[in-house]
Amino acid sequence: MSFDPLGLTPELTNAVAALGYVEPTPIQAQAIPLVLEGRDVVGCAQTGTGKTAAFVLPAFQRIPAEGVLRILVVSPTRELAQQIEVFSTAVAAHTGHRVLAALGGVPIDPQTAALKKGVDMLVATPGRLLDLVNRKAADLGRVEILVLDEADRMLDMGFWPDVRRILAQLPHKRQTLLFSATMAPEVLRIVNKNLVDPVRVDVAPTGTPIEAIHQALYPVDDSQKVDLMVALMKAHGDFDRTLVFTRTKQRADAVVSALERAGVKATAMHSDRSQEQRTKALERFRDGRIRVLVATDVMSRGIDVDDISHVVNYDVPNSPEDYVHRIGRTARAGASGTAFTFVSIMEFPDLDAIEMLIDSEIPVEELEGFPYRERAVPRAGRLTARKKRRAFGGRVMGRRRGRR
Ligand code: AMP
Repeated sequence: MSFDPLGLTPELTNAVAALGYVEPTPIQAQAIPLVLEGRDVVGCAQTGTGKTAAFVLPAFQRIPAEGVLRILVVSPTRELAQQIEVFSTAVAAHTGHRVLAALGGVPIDPQTAALKKGVDMLVATPGRLLDLVNRKAADLGRVEILVLDEADRMLDMGFWPDVRRILAQLPHKRQTLLFSATMAPEVLRIVNKNLVDPVRVDVAPTGTPIEAIHQALYPVDDSQKVDLMVALMKAHGDFDRTLVFTRTKQRADAVVSALERAGVKATAMHSDRSQEQRTKALERFRDGRIRVLVATDVMSRGIDVDDISHVVNYDVPNSPEDYVHRIGRTARAGASGTAFTFVSIMEFPDLDAIEMLIDSEIPVEELEGFPYRERAVPRAGRLTARKKRRAFGGRVMGRRRGRR
């Protein structure tokens, strides 16, 4: 199928062709005609499905380029907002729309100045947007199309109170498009409250079918995770472009230091780093100057990098969906991909939830020659006997020792 039957103007189909897109992705094929009709749309889709074009293209068709703020896109992270801006600006070169990304963490004055000159589309993170509204730099009173991108992530990150304040500034009569990777009950509540007679479009991630990924579980004491990470990288020569996920920023920094000490170029991507540092890190990761990018989940959605050879779950994610999102970054487009998950004794309950969701058991592997410390078994026998056998093999297990 080509873009032709979707009802886009020649200007926009040209823009799409110039970007090298030949066929619409499933979400584009489904959502574009609905958005053009003016319907409210709920898209259950994650990054990588082509959702950005699914709202930008029809929004530009509906809204003439007049330098009046009529399209508002709210995004949870700066990286995502930037990606939307980059795509929109490329399309706008064909349509004449003016696009501004208003990100937090960078000076506000250039943003205020740009708004004064007039923009058609504003892409913003919630905090900065509210700041601009409070300074009367952004007038949302004429917005006709609102896009809430990654609504589930905005909830997770605690942005909803800000978003609610933003919603209060918008005209009631408008078109609302909401995208979310999951349709948790809170997301559905938001949909019911803020969208009118919405059409739901569900898209399975174009990412990777989970079966295509080589998954392995590495049970290890938390105190040895850093060493295991370094040892694994040394043992396997094929860690070309590796994404490591940690629970906290501190842990991300610890992994980076250990890898750098071992001579592996690595960098961390988390909210303590400046916008510039993050953009640079992504660039260097993309062009292969650094092999390992260590990120927390909050940051990870914005990382749109192909050719990831390995995903390492240094910490087991709390939400099972995050596991699927994380490992779906590898083995794209038929390439091979590996996902390693380090699991300490405390993380087995989270692992259970993951295995339930993916409906299979992740096979246990062990790094030969690694000086595993005796891995402690939880006191109350939280693990089933089966899990214990899987995790700890025939090893003789003592009671948890008083010290590491
Ligand atoms: P998104 O989910 O919007 O972040 O898009 C994910 C990636 O897919 C981006 O790198 C886009 O440039 C790319 N993409 C989006 N739509 C298409 C398409 N129809 N054909 C080829 N690539 C696309």
